[in-house]
Amino acid sequence: MKMENGSAIMEDSNVRQFFEETLGDDGIRIINTLMGREATDESIAEELGIKLNLARKILYKLYDYRLASYVRTKDKDIGWYIYTWKLNLPRVLDVIVERKKKVLEDLSSRLDYETNTVFFSCTNDRFRIPYDIASEREFRCPQCEGTLEFSNNEVVVERLESEIAKLQDEIENPLTEALNTAQLQ
Ligand SMILES: [Zn+2]
Repeated sequence: MKMENGSAIMEDSNVRQFFEETLGDDGIRIINTLMGREATDESIAEELGIKLNLARKILYKLYDYRLASYVRTKDKDIGWYIYTWKLNLPRVLDVIVERKKKVLEDLSSRLDYETNTVFFSCTNDRFRIPYDIASEREFRCPQCEGTLEFSNNEVVVERLESEIAKLQDEIENPLTEALNTAQLQ
């Protein structure tokens, strides 16, 4: 079901989560009120009953992500500039994918480290260090002097592998629900 003003994209849970995390509830209200039209920052703040500074802060955050743009015009009567905003919401999918790719890079290097390192951990407090360091310290815990024993990191590796697989799948299919990009145009 295509919604003419582009609001279908907000139905997606990944998209909503992204906006909740980066902009909060006021951000989502601004997006909803700006959907499918153009409006000045002043009129948005007024309509939503929020401070102009807050509305501007959120709009510029959207602008940083290239999810909104503005046109600046000079009001001849009052002599100052007016900023008229509009959204570019379909780009949010690229933004989400870019963020996930960064997380994927981090997880991949952690997986590399885990698979290429032999760990030892303390029998008292589970403090975990690589074999090289454990050996230098004569297999005594740097925290409590307890005994260090071989620590199987299979569970850590499996968890990382499944997080990586999940992310790769999400990067290939950025929309979580029964939406497709054609509906967002
Ligand atoms: Zn210890």
